[in-house]
Amino acid sequence: MHRTPEVPAATPLWHGGWYRFAHRADSPNFGPRPEGTAIDLIVVHSISLPPGHYGGDEVQRLFCNTLDWDAHPYFQSIRGLKVSAHFYVRRGGELWQFVSCDHRAWHAGASSHQGRDNCNDYAIGIELEGLEGESFEPSQYETLAGLSAAIAQAYPIRHLVGHEHIAPGRKGDPGAAFDWPTLHRSLGWPATAFPG
Ligand SMILES: [Zn+2]
Repeated sequence: MHRTPEVPAATPLWHGGWYRFAHRADSPNFGPRPEGTAIDLIVVHSISLPPGHYGGDEVQRLFCNTLDWDAHPYFQSIRGLKVSAHFYVRRGGELWQFVSCDHRAWHAGASSHQGRDNCNDYAIGIELEGLEGESFEPSQYETLAGLSAAIAQAYPIRHLVGHEHIAPGRKGDPGAAFDWPTLHRSLGWPATAFPG
């Protein structure tokens, strides 16, 4: 049988839930999403380890279960914590991915969005390197907007909210200094896609 010559196709943006433009570091902290789940929510977080320290690799290590708990006194308060997010955006805009978007990452905890509990089941979690209540860098908004647009091409996203909006009283990230109008303008999605 004659074999059709292979034509190099354009590299797709997504492969098995992994984004082409992210550095990949596989986290063991994930599981399956419930059968038939529509992935329609993006949740934005902020994180830095130790809090307020930028530029190290502690967050990647936390998500990959390779953080040295004895390396800093603060780590005693999170010793043994097993968490993950799908994505992490550094201060300079560099993007990392830890869990396939097809799988369920462990970022939201006890949470509810518009009457639906357990947001991890149907959400994609994006961590911004930062500190709750403090501002974020223009490069981070650029990466976040580009990533969110790419996610919405692959998944039926309907809302983009902060952790603080799905776990009010328990979580406050990304916080009051997060610039929602800038993200809204960059994405051009309807206002109803964003909080408040
Ligand atoms: Zn969070």
